[in-house]
Parts: sequence; structure tokens; C-alpha cells
Amino acid sequence: MMDSMTDLNAQKFPDVGMLQVDLDDIWALRDCYGFDSNSPAQLHFMYTHTLPLLLDLLDEAAVHATFFVVGKDLEYEPNIELLHDLIRRGHRVASHSWQHRLEWRNLDTQTMHNDLAKTEQIMQDKLGVTPLGFRTPGYAFTGRTLEVLADRNYRYDSSLMPSPWGWIFRYADSKMAARTGIVKTQFPLFRDAFHSLRPRQPIHGQPLFEFPVATAPFTRLPLQIGVCMRLGMPWLKGHLRLMKSLALPYIMLMHLTDLCDFQALNHPFFLKQKFFARPAIEKQEFVRQALWLLKQNYGNIEPLENRFTN
Ligand SMILES: [Zn+2]
Repeated sequence: MMDSMTDLNAQKFPDVGMLQVDLDDIWALRDCYGFDSNSPAQLHFMYTHTLPLLLDLLDEAAVHATFFVVGKDLEYEPNIELLHDLIRRGHRVASHSWQHRLEWRNLDTQTMHNDLAKTEQIMQDKLGVTPLGFRTPGYAFTGRTLEVLADRNYRYDSSLMPSPWGWIFRYADSKMAARTGIVKTQFPLFRDAFHSLRPRQPIHGQPLFEFPVATAPFTRLPLQIGVCMRLGMPWLKGHLRLMKSLALPYIMLMHLTDLCDFQALNHPFFLKQKFFARPAIEKQEFVRQALWLLKQNYGNIEPLENRFTN
């Protein structure tokens, strides 16, 4: 029987389309932007209110996604049933670290190991799943992380946003976070800006793959749903077509913020930010269309995990 990795190599990942969702909740945004909130209902708002809505949209579109879980969220009991439901509906879960530390790039190797081990343990205990994939908090792509993942038998990482515009994203982020003193190592470094847009095996002799999140050929602007919402549907539509015609894979990445009804959350920090305050119904319609376009261009959308284990 052919090993599934051999299958993957033989295919060289032609034009596959995937949907990946980062499950950062409000508390992770609080740690990033430094606003005040101590109410559990607010801090877990996106799991409770946004995730069920997204699952319905995915059912409607018949799209199966990989959800990147922040380990600590499994200590909040109501989240666990939601994730069981998600798995029952055909989706897969991967790791998004233990507590979404934004200084990920600065962590020493042992701390990275400990963080991953803790997340693996709680995912096994609460969900019965061993994660095969990982994304660092804030796209902090590092060679050391890849080595740690390979040591721990992960099959893929998807932290690389191969874009030279990291400093602009850092600037925009610092404007939003205005003097919080939080140490962050978010967004790509210039040296990672011009990596191939194709998946590859970064460590010789190791089965681990790096799957870059979709980034526009030529301009190298990110193609995350949140960015596409700002740049408009024609931006997304054109790039899906372009990527497909170049036989490039498309890892469509979204966050719960892309769908969250921040008017209902009613926290002043979000109501002040134009992107967050956008009407939920508009966001929903955008996501619905994005899913439809992804399928139209790339056919069946299934989690990467299914390719490793089927
Ligand atoms: Zn995140």
C-alpha cells in the first residue's frame, strides 16, 4: 500500500483549495490590543455566538475546514461541546498554540516544546484528537518552530505568509493597540517575503510540510478573508481565478472576527474600529460568496488532514 506521504509528494500539491479558520476568541484580541474586559461572556463571545453561525454557513456551502484551536480555550467547558459538534460535522482541528503568545518568535526552543505539548495533551483529553497541523500566533514563521514541529511528528505547519509587507501590518497593528507595551513578533520578516507560494518540505529528510497561506502572486498582498473584505469581492474573485490558472494551491484563511457581530458584543473598543463595526449581515454575505467562489474554482473543499490520514 502506498504511504499517504508518497501520495502527497507525487501530486506535488497542484491546485488544491482549503479553508482554514483560526479560533482566536475575544480574550486573544484583548491580549493583542490591550482593551479592558473581564466578563467571561464577552471573552468567549466568538465561540458562543460566531462559531455556530460559521458552521451553518459551511454546511450550506458543503465545505469542510480545518479549525486551529488555541489550547487554553479547552479549559472553558462550553467550548468543548461546540468543538465536538464541529468534528461531527466533518471538520478537523489543528493547533494554534496554548495561549496565543504574540512574542512567539522570541520563545526559546524548550518553551515552544512545552507550549505544543500542553496543547496536544488537552486536545487529546477533551477532543480525542492528536493535531497534525499547526499555525503560530500572528504568522510568526520561524525555522526553529519548524524543527520543533518535525520533532513532535506534526505533518504540516501553515504559519508562512510570504509577503514583504509585514512592517505595514505591524504599523497598522500598533496604531490599533496604541501604547499597550505588549511585546509582539507578529507578521512575516522581510527574509521570508519571497518564498515560493507552493507547499514544500522545509527540513531535508523530514515529512513535515509548510503550507503558505494564500498570498497574491506579484503584489504579495495577503488573501485572508479579512483583507479581501477590505479590498472588495473583485480582489478575491480575480485572485482565485489567477491562482487556479497558475496551478497554485489556495489556503483560504479566515478568523472568527471576519464574521463576528461586534454590535451584539457591544464593547466600545470594537465599535470604534471601522472594520470590526461593519454590519454582521454584510460580513456573512461576504463569507457566503467567498466559500462559493472557492468551490467554484477549486472544486471539493476538504481539510488537509484528510489527505494525511485517508
Ligand atoms: Zn491567531
